[in-house]
Amino acid sequence: MNQLACFGGQRLIEFAFEKYNSFGRAEISAAKKVVASGILSQFVGEWSSSFYGGHYVQSFERAWAEYFGVKHAISVNSWTSGLIACVGAVNIQPGDEVILPPWTMSATVAAILHWNAIPVFADIEPDYFCIDPICIENKVTERTRAIIAVDIFGQSCNIEAINIIARKYNLKVITDSAQSPGAIVDEKFTGTLGDIGGFSLNYHKHIHTGEGGVIVTNDDELAKKCRFIRNHAESSIVGSDEACLSNMLGHNFRLGEIEAAIGLEQLKKLRRQVSSRQLVAKRLTKGLQGLKGLKLPKVRPKSTNVYYVYGCQLDLEELGVTRSQLIHALKCEGVQGLEEGYTNLHQLPMFQKLICYGSSGFPWRSDICQFIPDYSYGTLPVAEKLHDETYFGLELCNYKFSLNEINATIGAFKKVWQNIDELKRLS
Ligand SMILES: *Cc1c(COP(=O)(O)O)cnc(C)c1O
Repeated sequence: MNQLACFGGQRLIEFAFEKYNSFGRAEISAAKKVVASGILSQFVGEWSSSFYGGHYVQSFERAWAEYFGVKHAISVNSWTSGLIACVGAVNIQPGDEVILPPWTMSATVAAILHWNAIPVFADIEPDYFCIDPICIENKVTERTRAIIAVDIFGQSCNIEAINIIARKYNLKVITDSAQSPGAIVDEKFTGTLGDIGGFSLNYHKHIHTGEGGVIVTNDDELAKKCRFIRNHAESSIVGSDEACLSNMLGHNFRLGEIEAAIGLEQLKKLRRQVSSRQLVAKRLTKGLQGLKGLKLPKVRPKSTNVYYVYGCQLDLEELGVTRSQLIHALKCEGVQGLEEGYTNLHQLPMFQKLICYGSSGFPWRSDICQFIPDYSYGTLPVAEKLHDETYFGLELCNYKFSLNEINATIGAFKKVWQNIDELKRLS
């Protein structure tokens, strides 16, 4: 009866968890309205009244700016595009160093390389998995120009300390809040507390438009530059009053009218979606606390967590088994949404082989790079140990996590923990 499923016992969870879906009638009718109008995008890539996009794009941007309490919201066709625009807008020059954490999606670092700048990784905090301000300061050189701080898994980085370091060394702060829309720090929304920041509207995020993103800033100059980079800067700048041509190489990063119309409806659901994830996390914490050797997510003081991921850690000495033995047993019981480890960007082949543009090592092995950072294993011990041995997460944004699914998950954890010594038999 209580035999673990990994040893041939009965599986505790026999059903597939329901995928999270925030779409309903409002999104369908918003999309229909745009399709019926025939105007699917109203952007024009030249300096004109249509430079800023159509009705829904502009309405969506106004609504987003108002909700987040910022002067400018600039929609883009993905947050990857948004990050590229932000790094360009803060005037990063080829060869400049930009500091970022290894625990983030690869787009964060791609945006730096896009402008031929040199990514420098700083280690993360053991409690919150965000970039550690002390490690940032250790990595600052005379070549450092900016920090990309990531609000990973649903809560803010230590933005207060990061802003202090940035002021001290005259660095720009870009925040990547793709995973934390609606999270609060010090009564303000994450994403709005650096020089510039933004959010993803990709299908896998809290709220989405399929693909999309939004940049936010209170800085008029940065907003202006982002709007040019979004819309063919190299040519649309002709006729405008913009004098500075630095990084005014543009793209087509424009959001469509259908996505913007859907975005307006999704934004109305953000508050509800955030509180539903917080309720899931609260129930999980209530059910899982007290299991020996299991460290549940910590919420930063004066902050809220919107739980993109419910990030846990294992005390392997106390448990006497490995993470892979435990995760295997939990998966066999039918637990869904488990991720074993997260990522360590500095270990990507690109950084190990220093191959990016072409095949001769640019930008590292070139005149613009004065110093090649050490990307080898062992340079970021906190992130490496968490990823390799002690961290696992539950993807709260992927599934609905109904009460029934939460209780089943808790039951499976308890069953595995009751039989934990048996796991030593697993290879
Ligand atoms: C999802 C994500 C991105 C990229 O956003 P897209 O809209 O998918 O391009 C960037 N950074 C982080 C931390 C993310 O989670």
